[in-house]
Amino acid sequence: MTATTSAIAYARRERRRFVDELKELVAFPTVSADPRHASGMQRCAAWLADHLRAIGLDEASIWPTAGHPVVFARTKGVVDGAPTLLIYGHYDVQPEGARADWKTPPFQGTIRGDELFARGASDDKGQLFAHIKALEAYLATGGLPVNAVCLFDGEEEIGSPQLIRMLSRVAPRIRADVIVISDTRMPSPDRPALTYALRGALHLEVRVSGPTRSVHAGYFGGSAPNPLDHLTKVVAGLSGRNGAVGLEGFYDRVRTLSGEERRYMAATGPTDSEIVRAQGAVAPAMDRGYSLYERTTVLPSLTVTRVLADPNAGRAAIPAHASAWFDIRLVPDQRPGEVAELVRNRLSYAPGKGLRVSLRVGAGTRPVELSRTDGAARAAASAYRTAFGVEPVFLRSGGSIGIVAAFVDTFSIPIVLMGFGLPGDGIHGPNEKFHLPTFFRGIETSIWFMRNLRQAARSLPAMAGR
Ligand SMILES: [Zn+2]
Repeated sequence: MTATTSAIAYARRERRRFVDELKELVAFPTVSADPRHASGMQRCAAWLADHLRAIGLDEASIWPTAGHPVVFARTKGVVDGAPTLLIYGHYDVQPEGARADWKTPPFQGTIRGDELFARGASDDKGQLFAHIKALEAYLATGGLPVNAVCLFDGEEEIGSPQLIRMLSRVAPRIRADVIVISDTRMPSPDRPALTYALRGALHLEVRVSGPTRSVHAGYFGGSAPNPLDHLTKVVAGLSGRNGAVGLEGFYDRVRTLSGEERRYMAATGPTDSEIVRAQGAVAPAMDRGYSLYERTTVLPSLTVTRVLADPNAGRAAIPAHASAWFDIRLVPDQRPGEVAELVRNRLSYAPGKGLRVSLRVGAGTRPVELSRTDGAARAAASAYRTAFGVEPVFLRSGGSIGIVAAFVDTFSIPIVLMGFGLPGDGIHGPNEKFHLPTFFRGIETSIWFMRNLRQAARSLPAMAGR
């Protein structure tokens, strides 16, 4: 038996215990956005560090931050000539929402059929746990082919502000050749996929203020300036014709897609009808003949997500202020700062007497495009092929993962987005679940990936220089 087949046999034998441990992990209420859960975050970080120590990792520690802690660990010693794999995942979760919408308690793992139900089961505790169990399988059978570093974030769902801030400072302790992140999806249990592009993101709040307080629409209607009225014009102006974004210069940096890339996307990506089914509504028309998959991945978007007038103003009042929130998704080579500037310029047109417009800009995330052909991508594709028995596809995602752009900037090493989530997992919603057969295949994919990386060591850019 080789080290890899021994590890696979171990992982198959221990499946039941792995699921029991995952149930412990999802039981921590790790809602990073809610300060009331701070102790749940601490306890979960401690559980993870203890677990990593117990399976044989070294330096397992909890890095305190000004926010929620980061969990760190690395394998003992150094396997000579072997690449170092950084495994990134996040143990924080989205708020659970209304308890009444959950069939079973969100922070109590419940198995029904092939699925484990709990908040965070798929995003991201189950996915990160697949790699931990792959490490354990190798460490328990004595043949780990790579050096490994674990870095588990407690703030991914709020944009990873602390980890992004500390990344360049801690980079010398990480010293990795390849990064793997499992926090994405595959189209179905028998269609594995690697994500090779993420859109960037920019969140904006436009606020229009007028009268010092809400005033009576009968006594003052016709004379008082109306912030809400102006805000609706701003919103309308940003939505261009046929679903395009109506902001001068917005598309200037958007790359034109090659015919080869469009054909690849058409052959591998979701069809229009699959996307229509997933979004639960038909798509509005748009010119230029893009598929819906292209529209949601290689084109940028601007979505107004909320418009709110002064909540103290009644139905017969002119509100003192009104705000709109925008979610902008960016593609290469757009830059969040430049796009925020375009919006600022647009807003600088005089709003009319008695009105003031202000703009709040959130931390932006740059778009990311990864290689489909470097040594790490090939090692991952081959691992999926072995574990799932089918060729994986490379997909673009319309979503954003803030830390990935930070990794690109800090490390300039290959990054693999090896997702084990499924479209029906219901992440961020009620009754989130993780498909256990995919969890088990995920563990085996990670085991094969580590072995393939070892064999591909010389084709990795960081290793070639040693
Ligand atoms: Zn996630």
